[in-house]
Amino acid sequence: MKKVVIAIDGFSSCGKSTMAKDLAREIGYIYIDSGAMYRAVTLYSLENGIFKGENIDTQKLQKEMDSIHISFQLNPETGRPDTYLNGINVENKIRTMDVSSHVSPIATLGFVREAMVAQQQEMGKAKGIVMDGRDIGTTVFPDAELKIFVTASAEIRAQRRYDELKAKGEEASYNDILENVKQRDYIDQNREISPLRKADDAILLDNSQMTLSEQKEWLKAQLGQVAEM
Ligand code: C5P
Repeated sequence: MKKVVIAIDGFSSCGKSTMAKDLAREIGYIYIDSGAMYRAVTLYSLENGIFKGENIDTQKLQKEMDSIHISFQLNPETGRPDTYLNGINVENKIRTMDVSSHVSPIATLGFVREAMVAQQQEMGKAKGIVMDGRDIGTTVFPDAELKIFVTASAEIRAQRRYDELKAKGEEASYNDILENVKQRDYIDQNREISPLRKADDAILLDNSQMTLSEQKEWLKAQLGQVAEM
C-alpha cells in the first residue's frame, strides 16, 4: 500500500478537522491538526504575559519560542489525538473563544510560522499523514499527493461552531461567533506570509449542503484516485 501525504486546507470551522481525523483513523494514517499548534502558541502567550491587551510582545514570544513544546497523544477514549503544551493536555483550553479570538494575529508572525512549519514538515517525512490547516498544500507540503480545499458559507460555519460549543455546555453567542469567523477569514486571507489560498492543484470542496457521510464518500473517492487502498 502506497502511503501518501494528504493536505486539507480551508476556512475556519468548515469541518476540516473532523473530516481529516475520521479519514486518518479509517485508513490508519497519522492525523495532525496544525491549527491546534497555532492555538497552543496562543494559549501559551495568553498565560505568560505576552499579550498586553490586544498587543503582542513579539520580542518576548520570540525569545520563549524554544521553550514552547507542542505534541500530540492519542486519547484512547475519543480515538483522536489530544494536544499537549509542555507536557500538559490543553485540548479543551485551546478551543475556547478567548484563544479563537487571539490566534490569528499570533499566526501572522513570521518566526511563529517558521517554527511550526519546520515541525510539521518533520512530522510528514515518513508520509502516511493527514494534516489540516491553512497553508498545508501551499507551504508545508507543496508536493502532497492529495490536496483538498474546503469551504462553506460563513453563516453555516458559525452555526456549526455554535452547536459544537453548546454541546460542550459552553456559553456562546451566535453573533459573536459569526463575527469571529469573518474576522479570522479576513486575517488568514490577507496576511503577508502564507495567506490562506487554494493551491492550484487542490480539489475544491464546498460542504455547505453536504452531510458528513456524503462528505466521507466524496473524500474516499478522491483518495482512491491517488493511493491504492
Ligand atoms: O484550524 P483552526 O481554526 O483551529 O486554526 C486556528 C487558527 O490558526 C486559524 O484561524 C489560523 O489563523 C491559524 N492557522 C494558520 N495556519 C495553519 C493552521 C491554522 O495560520 N496551517
